[in-house]
Amino acid sequence: MMGKRKKVALVAHDNKKQELLAWAKENREQLIRHELFATGTTGKLLEEVLDVPVKRFLSGPLGGDQQIGAAIAEGDINMLIFFWDALESQPHDPDVKALLRIAVVWNIPVASTRSSADFMITSPLFDQEYEKAHPDFAAYTNRKVPSK
Ligand code: PGA
Repeated sequence: MMGKRKKVALVAHDNKKQELLAWAKENREQLIRHELFATGTTGKLLEEVLDVPVKRFLSGPLGGDQQIGAAIAEGDINMLIFFWDALESQPHDPDVKALLRIAVVWNIPVASTRSSADFMITSPLFDQEYEKAHPDFAAYTNRKVPSK
């Protein structure tokens, strides 16, 4: 169950930081009603632009993407706004892929573009309680595996 006040993680690769900051500034009123999380550098810049506290994980390439992924798996992050760079490979490409994957595994809303972030933030659900379909992993966790 997601409460009215969502736990929103924001991440942007270096070439996308300006775009994310501009978007966050434009949507400040909406965003600051929620609990904000970010990778290290993105979070520092967001705090400057929004003038509100942002819970900062490590910088993405230093483990921040994995920390956010773990928080998603634990149910401690409700949605992800992740402006990733589609034109340049990153030193932490495996972490980027892992973060996007775990967000799908746990069925959380993800926006990777400014337009999808616009749709997400203007959705009435953004400020409402929302019960997301809980993925059923029973078949997977109870599967038979050879153990001897
Ligand atoms: P950063 O990390 O916010 O610390 O720059 C972003 C990323 O995941 O690359």
